[in-house]
This record gives sequence, structure tokens and C-alpha cells, in this order.
Amino acid sequence: MPQKRPADEGILRVSTPHPDDSQDITLRPQFLADFIGQEQIKANLWVFIQAARNRKEALDHLFLIGPPGLGKTTLAQITAHELGAEFKVTSAPALDKPKDLAGILSTISERTVFFIDEIHRLKPAIEEMLNIAMEDYELDWVIGQGVAARTVRIPVPRFTLVGATTKAGMVSSPLIGRFGIVQRFGFYDTASLAAIIRRSARILEVEVTDDAAEMMAACSRGTPRVANRILRRMRDFAQIATKDAPVAHINAPVVETGLARLEIDALGLEEYDREILRTIIRNFGGGPVGAETLAISISEAVDTLEDYYEPFLIQCGLLQRTGRGRMVTEKAYRHLKIAPAAGNGTHGQDRLLF
Ligand code: ADP
Repeated sequence: MPQKRPADEGILRVSTPHPDDSQDITLRPQFLADFIGQEQIKANLWVFIQAARNRKEALDHLFLIGPPGLGKTTLAQITAHELGAEFKVTSAPALDKPKDLAGILSTISERTVFFIDEIHRLKPAIEEMLNIAMEDYELDWVIGQGVAARTVRIPVPRFTLVGATTKAGMVSSPLIGRFGIVQRFGFYDTASLAAIIRRSARILEVEVTDDAAEMMAACSRGTPRVANRILRRMRDFAQIATKDAPVAHINAPVVETGLARLEIDALGLEEYDREILRTIIRNFGGGPVGAETLAISISEAVDTLEDYYEPFLIQCGLLQRTGRGRMVTEKAYRHLKIAPAAGNGTHGQDRLLF
């Protein structure tokens, strides 16, 4: 693998990343060797990157699919580092007018890795411009107005677009068809998350015992961003518990107390996850209930419900998405210690099980 360069060298940030990551910059792996888990994606990408480097060509456009916090932005940045290329990052909602996209594409250099997050939210006019840029490496630009208006085609350097989405189904097929490489992220297993926690702990200079790392990993919703967040909170608890120690020491009792104080349960559910399940049970007889109705009931945006909360609840086997809406499973009743009402699936009173 290539020599390491200093972090963030050659990166131009066009817009801010996920708000959670503002403190996470130092934890973000810079090279494939540091990127833990997602073995198949890594192995494939390694081959494609090496081949593109050997040919001295831009890497084919790359489409990354998966729930938030699983490492899509990180992998895009790593791709740029491994290619020795410039990295530019933006998100679809930040591209308001075609001139915003044209402004970025007209300043990129050869082989730049250009990352667009939430690519399912591109406006049609921008998507059209992007389609041409991805395929022909040209920009359609309108000069003048009214009858005097004419379109000129401006060449842009060969670049790699990395498009990331939590909702692949909402990306149009002409756009998907222009990506040569498509990779789908899955949730991380506990061993990978424990490894991520141990790596982050070394960077943050905090001691973590193996059993504490495992406990935090098991409660991290299969998501590195959550694992890093839990680690930071446990560091706070450990630091306050052992004021005189030179470094914070996170062991199993610290994690046990900390998770209880944060109301994170053994499955990694937070109070809000449980509230979603309880709302479906109490207000909608266990479901089915449509996403919009459910989102209103819990005062949450549909996108956040669908992108952040639901995938993990489904992964845990607590929630099902059916054609008629969302339904809780038997496992959800058991986990919440609520007995299904008589004639489960109809509206009725539920009683608490103890
Ligand atoms: P996404 O773009 O999918 O929402 P990010 O790439 O922003 O996710 O990842 C969130 C955070 O999780 C990053 O800042 C990084 O520190 C950490 N992270 C993600 N994937 C990995 C990984 N495979 N190994 C180590 N840390 C990771």
C-alpha cells in the first residue's frame, strides 16, 4: 500500500460534513489499511484503485449505498488519498442551482474525487448537468438570455464522482447507470466495531479494556459513528469517575453504568427507538402504520425515521416494513415487556409484563 501522507492533505471541503463528525475528523481513517470491516468492499476497491493508478486514469464513478454513519464519506476520502488525488465534498441539498455544480466542476483537476452525499436529493436540472459531466466530461452551459441564448459545451477534467445515498430506490436509473462501481454497505459486526473502538481509543489516548470495548460495540447499532460517540461519552464518565488518574480508564463497570445513564439497552436501542416501537403498539395496535403517520406521531422527519431509526430496528428483528406500513414484531413486545393485546394487530389496551 502507498506511503501515508498527513491527514486531510489536498482536501477541499465544499460544504460541511455530517454534524456529528465535527469532532470526529481525527478519528476518520485516512487509508484503506485503517478502514476496519466491510472486507468485500475494501478488497474490490483496492483492485479498482490499483488498476486506475497503474493506468494513470481517473477511477470509474463510484456509487455507495447504506444507512448513515457506516463510512461512505470516509471511504470516498480514502479513495482520493489512495489515488493521490484531490478530494472535493458536497451534498445534494447544497447544490441549489446548476451554477453551483458548474462552479465546482470548473475548478477540479484531473482525477479529482468529487463526493456528493445524499445524491437522491439532486434537483432535476442539476442531475441532468451531472449526467453529461459524468459521461462526456463536459458541461452544458447556457450563455445569454431569450432568443439570444445558446448552449456551449465546456470540457471538464476526467474526474471520479462518488455518489452516496441512504435511499438507492430514489435515485433515477439514468444516474445509477452512469456509475461503473456500485457498493452496498452493511451494518458492522461486533468484532469490527470493537476494533474501531480500540483504534479510536488509541487516538483519543484513553485506556479501554477488551470486555468494555465489546460491550460498547454490542450497543453501537452496527454503526461506527455511534461506536465513536459512545466511546466519547464513556470517556467522559471514566474521566469524572477517576479524577486523579493520568488517563481515563474505561472498564466494564464504567460502561455498564454509562449505558444505563444514557438509557441505551442491551440491544443498543436508545429511548427514542423504544418510543417508536411503543407508539406503534399503543397508538396503532402494533401496526401496520404508514411512515408519514408514524413520523408525525413521534414528531420526527420521515427521512430521519426511514434512514436512521428504521434500518436498525428492522435489522434487530423488532420492526417490519410491509406493503401496508410498519409493524412491530413479537420480539419487540418481548423486548419492551409489553403483552400483546387480545387479537394482536387490532387496536386495544396493552399491559406491561414484569
Ligand atoms: P457516512 O458517510 O456513511 O454517514 P462517515 O464516513 O461519515 O459515514 O463515518 C462516520 C464516522 O465513523 C467517521 O468519522 C469515522 O470516524 C467512523 N468510521 C466509519 N467507518 C469506519 C471504519 N470502517 N473504520 C473506522 N472508522 C470508521
